[in-house]
This record gives sequence, structure tokens and C-alpha cells, in this order.
Amino acid sequence: IDELTAIGVCKSYRTGEVETHALQDITLSFRQREFTAIVGASGSGKSTLLSLLGTLDKPTAGQVKIGGVNVSTLKGNRLADFRFSAIGLVFQHFHLLPTLTSMENVMSPFYGRRTSVNYKARAEELLIQLGLADKARSLPSQLSGGEQQRVAIARALINKPQWLLADEPTGNLDSRNAEAFYELLQQLKTELGCGIIVVTHDLHLAGKADRTIELRDGRVIQERNVTTGGALC
Ligand code: ADP
Ligand code: ADP
Repeated sequence: IDELTAIGVCKSYRTGEVETHALQDITLSFRQREFTAIVGASGSGKSTLLSLLGTLDKPTAGQVKIGGVNVSTLKGNRLADFRFSAIGLVFQHFHLLPTLTSMENVMSPFYGRRTSVNYKARAEELLIQLGLADKARSLPSQLSGGEQQRVAIARALINKPQWLLADEPTGNLDSRNAEAFYELLQQLKTELGCGIIVVTHDLHLAGKADRTIELRDGRVIQERNVTTGGALC
């Protein structure tokens, strides 16, 4: 699970008579300990790419491979287990479970799993780290947008994923919490060795990335590797 690649990936949506080519022939490879920002105008395909890389959806053509496994070949429980073992996802609209507290939402990926992991302790630690210790027993409806976002981030990290994928993770955070989130990303990279892929309009966040990929009309139009400097293509 230490390499994530998209090979000739296309994704089309059909709504009645209309076919939208959301992604066209995307070939990219992502590495551990690398923070990639995916940027581009609204409708350029960013969220679609993230959901394919996150194994939530399948490409119309081409392959997404994680650690050499073509994820399109996995189904049902095997796909769910594979995702659990490799990927943490933060959605744009959080998708917190409304009847569960913050703490329970953070622990929820472990529910129904046989495990020896002390995930309660890990959840407590993450809530503290994200400044949510006093909100552990609150329901999502009792939290601000920024707090809900931080709960969603903690939930994505509870399984110590190899890959953290996030759609506009700083969209609802004030500058102080955004700074805390940037620091957390650095820590994930260095301590867990995580690969991080975010879709973002936040130029400050994109500026902290090792690499930026710009999409337009479903294609990669620019790839910039900050650590080596300059545009690669
Ligand atoms: P954002 O640009 O903020 O990431 P979304 O990813 O939610 O917003 O949506 C981007 C575009 O995709 C919008 O134009 C939206 O109308 C369209 N879209 C998203 N989901 C669907 C859907 N299920 N059916 C049709 N269009 C969709
Ligand atoms: P972005 O995240 O860059 O805003 P999206 O990946 O959401 O872009 O959307 C890319 C294109 O695919 C847009 O034209 C959007 O309207 C379309 N699209 C996205 N999701 C759906 C969907 N579920 N059904 C139909 N069209 C969609």
C-alpha cells in the first residue's frame, strides 16, 4: 500500500442524454511522505479524482492501483477492509453520523471490527490534538462547521492510514485551526509516513504542498514539484 497510482483513468457520468467526461486519461503516481495539493476551477474534476483515488468510486476506464492492487477488482467486504487498512478520507460535507457524539464518530470506523487496537485511547488523543477535548460528548448538531470538520479529520486518522485524502479540509476552519491542521499534516508525513492528497482552493494550504497538480476540464494541465522547483510539464 506504499504506492498509489492512477493509470489512464477516465470517468464519465451519464445523466439522461447528457454524458459528462469528468476525467480524461489521468496518469499520476503518489508517494508516501509526500503532500500533494490538487487545484483547479470548480467542475474541473478534482472531487471525482479524489473519490476514485479513495476507492469510493470506480473509473470508467483505466486503473487505480494501491500497492499494486487494482482496486476495481475488490468488492464488498474486501473493498471495505482494504479501504480501512489503507485510506483515511475527509469529505467536503463531513458526513458525520448525526446521532453519535464526536468521540463516537471518531471511533466509528472500528465499530463491528475485531481488533486489539485501543481505539478509544487513540480517539481521545486525536480529539485533544485537534482541540476538541471539551466537545467529545457533543453531537454534530451542537458543533460549529469548523468543529465538525475537525471531528471528520480525527475520524479519518483513527486507523492510522497510509493515505490521507481530503476534500477542502480547511474550508471551514478559522486561521488558528487551519494552522493547527497544517502542523498536523507535517506530523503525519514525518511520523506516520503518510501520503497526503488534498483538493483545495486554499492557496496557503496549497503553498505548503510538496507538489501541486492542476486540473482543467478533467485533464492535468500542470504539475509542479515544489521540492525540486519549477514546473515538470
Ligand atoms: P465543488 O466544486 O465545491 O467541489 P461539488 O464537487 O459538490 O462542488 O460539485 C461540483 C459540480 O459537480 C457541481 O457543478 C455539481 O452540480 C456537480 N455535481 C456534483 N454531484 C453531482 C451529481 N450527483 N449529479 C450531478 N451533478 C453533480
Ligand atoms: P470539482 O471537484 O473540480 O468541482 P467534480 O469532480 O465535482 O469537479 O466535477 C467534474 C465534472 O463532473 C463536472 O462537470 C460535474 O458537473 C460532473 N459531475 C460530478 N459528479 C457528477 C455526478 N455524480 N453525476 C453527474 N455529473 C457529475
